[in-house]
Amino acid sequence: MDDNRPLLAPDAVWEEDWFALETLDADTLAIGEPLYFQCNWSYLISDGDHSLLFDTGCGQVPISPVVNRHRRAGLKVLPSHMHYDHLGGIGAFDPVIIADLPVLRACVDGEVLVPTEDLFLGTKHGLAVPRISVTEWVKPQSWIDVGTRRLQVLHTPGHSPDSISLWEPARKRLFAADFLYRGALYAQVPGASLRAYYASCQMLLELLPGDAAIFGAHGQPDAQGRSMAPELGMSDLADLAAMLERLVTSPPAEAGEFKVNARMNLAYSPERP
Ligand SMILES: [Zn+2]
Repeated sequence: MDDNRPLLAPDAVWEEDWFALETLDADTLAIGEPLYFQCNWSYLISDGDHSLLFDTGCGQVPISPVVNRHRRAGLKVLPSHMHYDHLGGIGAFDPVIIADLPVLRACVDGEVLVPTEDLFLGTKHGLAVPRISVTEWVKPQSWIDVGTRRLQVLHTPGHSPDSISLWEPARKRLFAADFLYRGALYAQVPGASLRAYYASCQMLLELLPGDAAIFGAHGQPDAQGRSMAPELGMSDLADLAAMLERLVTSPPAEAGEFKVNARMNLAYSPERP
């Protein structure tokens, strides 16, 4: 196993022969899946006796043993959006917080959220649609308390209509999930919208300070082949906004992948204006 495993950042360790655990600070753990083709990263945010898990991994290997090893007494789970590769282990957790968005409320059947295939995208990969028992709805712009830490829920559509990000002003960190990460950003999938993506970029550029760090939910290895939590910065956000503005203003006729900068590409389709 060891021979096939990719290199990790110097301060990261393997667990369960699948997860890469990287300590962002004493209370913030990035949980990566470098062996999964999409190199997912979930985040365990803790303080005092409380933890918040932002995304539950791709599900190929259950994430709950790792989370239970490192969580505090009170754990809440919040998915960034309904794509299949972020909900993998969600059935193992309770309570589950869901962003209070009309597109998600429309998926509620009784007390249970069942995402549409356009939101889930996993059926064609042979995955069963999850049935999520919603414990609590959290409105965009509102705050989630994790001990003394406060994180603001921001609706950041573009990659998908239900995408949210978490902003923590005290540590100047944005957990942006699939909105911004290292690799190819998807603006071509069902539910994606270039105009929404651009508007979300503009909102974040106005809200966040210039030295904010942005942690995404996927991270292709760096130039040295090392897997690490995908940290980007405000200049990356500005580069993405500039690319989106170009594509919104003069949309190319053909689908394709455009280079945003050395760390990101953007997959584009004229069908997702
Ligand atoms: Zn996604």
